[in-house]
Amino acid sequence: MKDLPFEVQLNNAVAALRHLLEVQKTQTPLLIRPAAVNRPLRQQVQKGAAAGRQAAAPVRQAVAPGPRPVQNEIQAFNLASLSLGDRWNNLDLGELEKEVAKCQACELAGTRTNTVFGEGKIKPKVMFIGEGPGGEEDKEGRPFVGPAGQLLDKMIGAMTLSRQECYIANVVKCRPPGNKTPDAAHMEACLPYLMAQIKRVQPEFIVLLGAVAAKAMFNRPDAVVGRLRAKVHQWHDIPLVVTYHPAALLREQGYKRPAWEDLKLVMARLNLGG
Ligand code: SF4
Repeated sequence: MKDLPFEVQLNNAVAALRHLLEVQKTQTPLLIRPAAVNRPLRQQVQKGAAAGRQAAAPVRQAVAPGPRPVQNEIQAFNLASLSLGDRWNNLDLGELEKEVAKCQACELAGTRTNTVFGEGKIKPKVMFIGEGPGGEEDKEGRPFVGPAGQLLDKMIGAMTLSRQECYIANVVKCRPPGNKTPDAAHMEACLPYLMAQIKRVQPEFIVLLGAVAAKAMFNRPDAVVGRLRAKVHQWHDIPLVVTYHPAALLREQGYKRPAWEDLKLVMARLNLGG
C-alpha cells in the first residue's frame, strides 16, 4: 500500500467508506457497531495522510461523522451473536429451553442451581426482558419471582394485563454469584438464546427492564436507562421501550413516576386500558 500513489490510496479509502456504509444499510439499524469495525478504514486514512497531509484533510473530515466511539471497546459485544437467525432453527421453544438447561457456555453454569429460561404466552402483547436471575429465581427456575417480580406483577396489572398474558425473560439464564451484574462475556455467551427466544415468542411489544437489558439489546456497553427511556424504539420491527428495572424502583422511589410514563407509552401503542 505504501508504494501506491496518494490518489489511489485516497480512492481506496473512499471506496472502503462507501463499502462500510453499504454494509451498514444491510444490517439491523439498532445495532451500533463498535469502534473496532472502523479500524481498517482509519488505517487506510492514516496511510493517506502520510502520503500528503494537506490533501488527506478532506478524507479525515469524511470519516469523522462515523459511529460514536464506544467508551470501552473491549466490552463491545460480538455483533454476530445478535443476529435473529440462530443455530437452533429446528427447535421449538420447549426444546430450546432444554438446550439452555444443559448449557455450559460460560462460567455461570458452575454456580447456578437452575437455569431460568423464561415463561409466559407465545405471541404476547408484551415481552419483558430483565437482567438475570436472582436468588429466588435461581432456586425456583422461574423469572421474576422475588420482591422485584412481585412489583413487576403489579406493573403488569396496572397496564391492565396479567402475567399470564405476557412473556418474561432475562438476558442471562443463570444467576451471577452474589447477584452481581452479568459481565460482557456472560451476556455475549447467552444472547444467542435470547435472540432465538424472541424469534419464537413473537411479542407485539418489548419492554427492557434496566440498563443491562438495554446494553445487550442495543449492543451498547455505554447504554443508560435515562437516555433511552421515554420513547418507543424499533428493534427488528418490534416496538420497544426501555424503563427502570423493578429492583431499581424498589430502591429509588423517584423512578416510579418515569417508569409509569414509559409503561403508558406501551399501553397507548397497544390500546390498553382505554
Ligand atoms: S448464563 Fe447463559 S451462556 Fe452462561 S451457562 Fe447459563 S445459559 Fe449458558
